[in-house]
Amino acid sequence: MSSLTARAAHWQHSHGCMLTFHRAAPAAEWASLPNRNFYLNLDYLDRLLSSLKQDGWEVATVEDITGRLQRGEDGSRLVNFSVDDCYKDTFELVLPLFRRHGVPVTLFVTTGIPDGTMPLGWAGLETILARRGRVTFEGEIVRLDTDTAKQQWFAKISQTWDKGDFDGKYLKFCEANGADPEKLREEHAITWEMLEKLAGDPFVEIGAHTISHPRVSELPPVRAMQELVGSRDRLRSQLSIECRHFAFPYGRSADCSERDFDLARDAGFASAATTRKGLLQPGQNLFSLPRNTLNGAHQSLGYASFLLSGLAGLAAKVLGRV
Ligand SMILES: [Zn+2]
Repeated sequence: MSSLTARAAHWQHSHGCMLTFHRAAPAAEWASLPNRNFYLNLDYLDRLLSSLKQDGWEVATVEDITGRLQRGEDGSRLVNFSVDDCYKDTFELVLPLFRRHGVPVTLFVTTGIPDGTMPLGWAGLETILARRGRVTFEGEIVRLDTDTAKQQWFAKISQTWDKGDFDGKYLKFCEANGADPEKLREEHAITWEMLEKLAGDPFVEIGAHTISHPRVSELPPVRAMQELVGSRDRLRSQLSIECRHFAFPYGRSADCSERDFDLARDAGFASAATTRKGLLQPGQNLFSLPRNTLNGAHQSLGYASFLLSGLAGLAAKVLGRV
């Protein structure tokens, strides 16, 4: 048996698949968004949920999927959807869709978003570019005549800011363009009132995703622990819920490692999820759960099948992109 065949046979005994995404937008708006790959087209998500049901997949919470994994029960047709960070569209668009399909969704909340301590600069930048025909960037006038120009400038500006002091540069950009960063933040941030409603929804499972969305692997242990425990404490005090599950921000190999998996365990979580591709396996470490990211570039049901079959995990390993 080739190693590929052996792996494929192994996957048939997998214990399910975890999928994750950040934001969603209606199809009519999605195409023109300057940062559209960060969003799932809602029509696509709708079709995906329908086709999973037709194919006999059961959408499960993290609590359910990890519980069955631990008990050694068959989870080969289980799939979990999680939304990371949580913005206003989680409340306005994503939840209504999952509710309509009658299936649960897991929300990994970054508590700095409802607390208003994160400027959400990339979201604000996107809104400014979407609404303007021209902006000032580094003293130059930038023309934004087409959706493509807006998308190219979003990529260019955000990549420049990513090199350091993103928030500071964003605030200067707002000033240069007469934009109000606080108003922009409020347009995107989920609120505690919304989360309170979601916490009481039978289709919602809430997990923690740090306070300020850092790369946990880059923090000293005490700071890392504060981010893990602090976000859970904040969710407990605001929503009167006990979050048992955690997801690492960014979640790839460089963003969270063995030390961080141990920290999540020591923090008292029941599981922690990464964004390393692959399927849940027997004997799976519950503190480094693989999750497969869906984004706007993925619009075909075939790509979802690719993830669900575990083949994407193999491709990522072969290409070294884990
Ligand atoms: Zn995140």
